[in-house]
Amino acid sequence: MRVKTFRIACIPGDGIGKEVIPAGQQVLQALGQHQPTLRFAFTQFDWGGDWYRAHGAMMPDDGLEALRGHDAILFGSAGDPDIADHVTLWGLRLKICQGFDQYANVRPIRILPGIDAPLKRCTPAQLNWVIVRENSEGEYAGIGGRVHQGHPTEVATDVSILTRTGVERIMRYAFGLAQSRPRKRLTVVTKSNAQRHAMVMWDEIAQQISSEFPDVQWDKELVDAATARMVNRPESLDTMVATNLHADILSDLAAALGGSLGIAPTGNIDPERRYPSMFEPIHGSAFDIMGKGWANPIGTFWSCVMMLEHLGEPLAAGRIMQAIEQVTGNPALHTRDLGGQATTAQVTEAVCDALQAQGQM
Ligand code: NAD
Ligand code: MN
Repeated sequence: MRVKTFRIACIPGDGIGKEVIPAGQQVLQALGQHQPTLRFAFTQFDWGGDWYRAHGAMMPDDGLEALRGHDAILFGSAGDPDIADHVTLWGLRLKICQGFDQYANVRPIRILPGIDAPLKRCTPAQLNWVIVRENSEGEYAGIGGRVHQGHPTEVATDVSILTRTGVERIMRYAFGLAQSRPRKRLTVVTKSNAQRHAMVMWDEIAQQISSEFPDVQWDKELVDAATARMVNRPESLDTMVATNLHADILSDLAAALGGSLGIAPTGNIDPERRYPSMFEPIHGSAFDIMGKGWANPIGTFWSCVMMLEHLGEPLAAGRIMQAIEQVTGNPALHTRDLGGQATTAQVTEAVCDALQAQGQM
């Protein structure tokens, strides 16, 4: 019997990240117990707001080196009530995403069994999307500056840049992902009416890359119209690709339409596998509920599913997804964001029990 051990770097970060990441580890351990060929070796990294208070930085300068030898990274959230959001975000999460060139941010969403999603005219079969977010440039390229602070002459810029290389690689990834899904359908989200340089190039490159994927049916939608289409005609969408800012917004909307920000997962993927990819729930630190034990851990569990798929373990991924769906199917196991009363610990235990009930593999 060959035992495979995956080395997973765990960065709980801040707020409810510290509650949901240990829950994710517990579920992965439970999976390992019932699937003896699979083992997880976790390394803990206590980076984030507390580390900032102690060291003046969110993570050490050589932090990427410490992560590099791992097969994947499981990340909670960066965001602390006492530290500016742009400091926590750029000092940790974006440092890893950019340092490891995780240029594809992948965000699936569907309405899980038992969940009362807000779109009353929509069946679960009609909302089954993956949003591909360009994760390395665009509006979040980090280019810009601020001068004459506090004076009437103050100027500040955030310059959005798109490169041909960056757009080609994300389009190729998105068309490939669309091709791998049953409906083979891609919507390219754009804003080339108002943004007449970079977004026009974005559209042209989409057109060019589409010729490599003749079996993918694709269309274009302006980002503002895309929000309305997500609400009014959810079944007309399958895979979407959008710039960093556009997809950031659309994916929070998608998560809410799926029932809660607390269930949606993310993969920050380096498709070329030069570096470890990073998996995280879509939500942030949730200051309003941290420390209460109310955080919904499903977004983290689903992120673990994505991690296992990325690591080439589709059977194990399927087992966790099945356990998740069994648990969401029972309203007594819903956390408050889903209208229930269950705690993080109760949901976690229920998922571990469901894994156990599936028996040995
Ligand atoms: P948030 O996602 O933390 O919270 C938004 C709302 O959703 C809150 O009411 C919260 O209670 C609820 N919520 C989120 N996750 C939940 C869960 N698992 N279970 C139950 N309810 C949940 O977003 P925010 O309030 O805009 O940001 C708070 C902090 O988190 C900020 O510092 C922000 O910068 C940071 N943030 C970090 C990331 C990240 O690291 N990836 C992402 C988003 C926000
Ligand atoms: Mn976001």
